[in-house]
Amino acid sequence: MKPVTIPFFISHHGCPHRCVFCDQRAISGSSGALPTAEQIYGKIDLWRSTAGDRPLEIAFFGGTFTALPEEIQAGLLAPLQPFLDERTLDSVRISTRPDCIDAERVAWLSERGVRTIELGVQSMDDTVLAASGRGHSAVDSLAAIRCIKEYGLMVGAQLMPGLPGDTPISSLASLEQVISVGADFIRIYPTVVLQGTELAWRYEAGEFIPLSLERGVALCKILLQRSMRAGTPVIRIGLQADHGLNAESVLAGCWHPALGQLVRSQLYADLISHVVPPGRLVTVYCHPARLSDVVGINRTNLQSQLERGVQMLIVPDATLQKEELKVHTEESSITCSIIKDINYSIHEV
Ligand code: SF4
Repeated sequence: MKPVTIPFFISHHGCPHRCVFCDQRAISGSSGALPTAEQIYGKIDLWRSTAGDRPLEIAFFGGTFTALPEEIQAGLLAPLQPFLDERTLDSVRISTRPDCIDAERVAWLSERGVRTIELGVQSMDDTVLAASGRGHSAVDSLAAIRCIKEYGLMVGAQLMPGLPGDTPISSLASLEQVISVGADFIRIYPTVVLQGTELAWRYEAGEFIPLSLERGVALCKILLQRSMRAGTPVIRIGLQADHGLNAESVLAGCWHPALGQLVRSQLYADLISHVVPPGRLVTVYCHPARLSDVVGINRTNLQSQLERGVQMLIVPDATLQKEELKVHTEESSITCSIIKDINYSIHEV
């Protein structure tokens, strides 16, 4: 059963410097103060009462957890230990930088209930990392992923297509490298220009051209499909809309409040266009959880097919896999898949 995640945002705590694109306070909407033990207890009690039977997980996001002084890390993890011992809390998740991971730190965290570490990999291209002021290399990310896996913990890789110096080819290569070294899951955050960051100054000075929404979706659909082919889940595409992000804080870049849905919808739209000739009347069956993706935001997929003369009736079918569609026309009925039946070229982005 998927755990309920109780998030604590420790905005920028532990960060050795500010990366050029980053403003965790805008991203999380949090003041950034470290939570007290009382606040942690209070939030666990609150969420426990609404989680039902689902396991609970505590997550510390938005800073560099493992670069905090050890007594502060210990102070954040100590209130969780009684809940972990009595199994009312299932696990702990932290996020950190690849150059702030080593065997000693992973062992220490593992002893205190940490089961998942998310790494801000961002890119596996050293030129991109340097241009983005990250202060670490791709080798650091490879070593960190391997180290976390050696201790049997889950490791997630956050990637940021569209950083300074990045290209679709290097974004895809970054994804393939983190998958090949064993990342258990991926988050894809296409670069957004946030007010007040160094990237905003570069953008306003004409020194940085961000990915547009259209190109970002075209790139993300390829990254998502490659991850699906590899069997590595992408657990998030795009920054969460419900915090401090809005038209004022986002100056430019690939941002949409439902970016993940836009990307998945585009995959289904491409598949339908690939298997259904123009001018047909079709019934499209899909997994119930994918109904809104197949229809598209504001019924865009229905509309774009109408422009090809294709009239679609979309019907939920729980016997299908989430990546599959069954397409029924007067002449035929086929089952097809967004993983297997469309081939993209990264050069088209
Ligand atoms: S990207 Fe990560 S390391 Fe860089 S400033 Fe933001 S939270 Fe800190």
